[in-house]
Amino acid sequence: MLYIHCPFCAEKRDEQEFHYAGEAFIARPVNPEECSDEEWGDYVFMRSNHKGWIWEQWEHVSGCRKVFVVKRHNVSNDIAATYTLAEGKQHFLEQYAAEESA
Ligand SMILES: [Zn+2]
Repeated sequence: MLYIHCPFCAEKRDEQEFHYAGEAFIARPVNPEECSDEEWGDYVFMRSNHKGWIWEQWEHVSGCRKVFVVKRHNVSNDIAATYTLAEGKQHFLEQYAAEESA
């Protein structure tokens, strides 16, 4: 059972109040009209599916109904943090930049 902190309600609530809304920050092709069917298919259907820390979107359906970002370890179910979409994108890009330079 997960207990998820909603950044908008500022409360930690039971997982049953939330709805999983997919992987966060999937990069949309810059020019969709120019990409191949395979590239478009990868964008629509393929997900990273790795073990470790993942970035997810969740919706607080039984509360404020807002979508936010959860950084969760998909093996241990530990939650590092929850963010609004804008805050989460900033942290995601900082982590991505740090991994690229390492
Ligand atoms: Zn909420």
